[in-house]
Amino acid sequence: MKVVKSSGPQLFVDLDAIQRNFRAAGSIVGSDVEVCAVVKSDAYGLGIDKIVGPLVAAGCHSFFVADFEEAVRVRRRAAVAKVFILRGAKPSFAEFYRQNDFIPVCNTLCEAAEIASLRCQYALNVETGLSRFGLTFGEFRTLVHCRVRAPVLIMSHLACADAPGNPLNLLQKSRFMAMCELSGATPRSLAASAGISLGPAYHFDLARIGSALYGLNNASLDPNPFVNVVRLRARIADIRLVRTGEAVGYMSTFRAQRPTWVGILAIGYSHGLAWSGSNRLWVQIGSHQAPLVGRVAMEFAAIDMTDLPPSLRVSGRWVDLICPKLPAELMAHTAGTIPQETLVRIGSTNTRHYLEERRQAHT
Ligand SMILES: *Cc1c(COP(=O)(O)O)cnc(C)c1O
Repeated sequence: MKVVKSSGPQLFVDLDAIQRNFRAAGSIVGSDVEVCAVVKSDAYGLGIDKIVGPLVAAGCHSFFVADFEEAVRVRRRAAVAKVFILRGAKPSFAEFYRQNDFIPVCNTLCEAAEIASLRCQYALNVETGLSRFGLTFGEFRTLVHCRVRAPVLIMSHLACADAPGNPLNLLQKSRFMAMCELSGATPRSLAASAGISLGPAYHFDLARIGSALYGLNNASLDPNPFVNVVRLRARIADIRLVRTGEAVGYMSTFRAQRPTWVGILAIGYSHGLAWSGSNRLWVQIGSHQAPLVGRVAMEFAAIDMTDLPPSLRVSGRWVDLICPKLPAELMAHTAGTIPQETLVRIGSTNTRHYLEERRQAHT
């Protein structure tokens, strides 16, 4: 591990764990279903450029990205993989799609008809209940009647896969199947990370896996088949004894009820730490935990270290904010958001370090 002399927070991304999660998704869906990696938003903030290589090495042949720029970055590291672009197709880009073997996902009838006539491979997104993008049943039927070049993939996206009992899951699957009946043998894809735990009826030909690769267990599977990928740590910049009755931080939202050892952490909301986690989040210090006290500030946050062994109350020490004992899910839920948002914010704003020793040791 490279030691960096910076006092800012550090994010460690375990590439080996991402490979394991890719394989874990594969064993859930079985060998008849292709697992594709969703690496949009710079691989959920964790870095496309570092993550694509290990995924290819783990057997990933298809990637989903947000836009053309991300597709180019994937192509540099995956010369022969399929690269699907979620944001839609631009007819003016047709030549680039063909040259680079990119597959734009068409979200409207016009887009699909035009891109098909430009001899591009394309995927087709159909609307089944998310009400976001995608062709309606009627639009899809129109496209089929146009007898244009067929898509290489038909896909839709589940709105409520995190909640297995939600009736919209079944409704979306039924609508999806009804639409696919119009299109013959075109490969189909409905499930993302949480969707694969709804059962084989939801797997179709291809699963688009994002969150699970990065260690998030959106469907709350027990036991959790996915391992933790990220660790976020921050340094204790200062420690001070706050007298009884004194307050900590902006708007004095925490007031010391006893002489209180307060550690000032060099991490704040500018590093993606949720302000809504003020007075709620916990940090890990060795085998102990300490609560955040007072409001999270732009560059700093405070913790109550009074109950820690004095040997741990050391300025300059690192404390963990995300680690196996404090996973990103817990941070997100405590702060009133979802783990994907936490990951993207933390990942895209902090210095990232990649762990891959174990993978190299095995190969
Ligand atoms: C983001 C996204 C996914 C991946 O979702 P996860 O729940 O993170 O696995 C799959 N499909 C589409 C269309 C997406 O936008």
